[in-house]
Amino acid sequence: MDMERLLQDVADDVRQSLGTGKVADYIPALAQVPPNQFGLAIACLDGRHASVGDADQPFSIQSISKVFTLAMVLSGRGPLVWDRVGREPSGTPFNSIVQLEHESGVPRNPLINAGAIVVTDHLIGGSSADDAVDRLVAFMRARSGSNSIGVDQQVARSESETGSRNRSLAHFMASFSNLRNPVETVLSAYFRQCALALSCRQLAQAGLFLANKGRDPQTDEMVVAPDQCRRINAVMMTCGHYDGSGDFAFRVGFPGKSGVGGGILAIVPGEASIAVWSPRLNRSGTSWTGSQALERLAARTGWSVFG
Ligand code: GLU
Repeated sequence: MDMERLLQDVADDVRQSLGTGKVADYIPALAQVPPNQFGLAIACLDGRHASVGDADQPFSIQSISKVFTLAMVLSGRGPLVWDRVGREPSGTPFNSIVQLEHESGVPRNPLINAGAIVVTDHLIGGSSADDAVDRLVAFMRARSGSNSIGVDQQVARSESETGSRNRSLAHFMASFSNLRNPVETVLSAYFRQCALALSCRQLAQAGLFLANKGRDPQTDEMVVAPDQCRRINAVMMTCGHYDGSGDFAFRVGFPGKSGVGGGILAIVPGEASIAVWSPRLNRSGTSWTGSQALERLAARTGWSVFG
């Protein structure tokens, strides 16, 4: 398969949908991103790479960061985190608080905001928010093979200034003793992880260990054990798009995680890691054109975890 050709064909397939959907507007830094951009990049396990469109333009990865903090936690004192966060789809929006009361402060899964806040608390452990962010940035640089990756401080500040809902989630969990560090410590790291900026090319490379049973093919490092890698992919499949997760599984058929910056990371186990970015979102907060592109790519390649 000619990957450059494939991506070009997919880009042509979705060009007419670029005006559909709404850019995230809860912070100016996201609201001001030119909305009709589109980038797509693929990194294959056999070493092939390809990209098309705005694939070198860094964007705010937002909730895609939740996959990487989960991987870091599962590679360390991992299994313990499952006492504090579940692995069921939520069927609710990314920042919903309603289930937390019914379920005693234990979030449904690590890919909704409440769950990711718990994972970040776990990642901080007995260290500091700055130390956790430094480790995360180092992790992303190692996975992507790019030392230019960092936190967009302007986005991070705006996240914090508009973070009332995330503060509510965190305080609510703290009231059930499901946070070990102070709320502001945890959120200071969480807001910065959301503000990590990567291009599609960097993100596709960074996700490749998830297509390779946990081993980074670039560095040959075992990032997470194979069984943990399967679990991360399972959670992405079932929970990666909030209340749009079922539809994404139905239409695309492999694990993915969206962010409100318009990026999606998708993993085809045994084959490839794919990153797509287009800022306009659907009602679940997933890139409209990005998910269309992945649907087209799945149709053109026949790739699916469902056979
Ligand atoms: N920064 C956003 C929040 O925490 C991330 C949401 C998303 O990307 O889905 O609310």
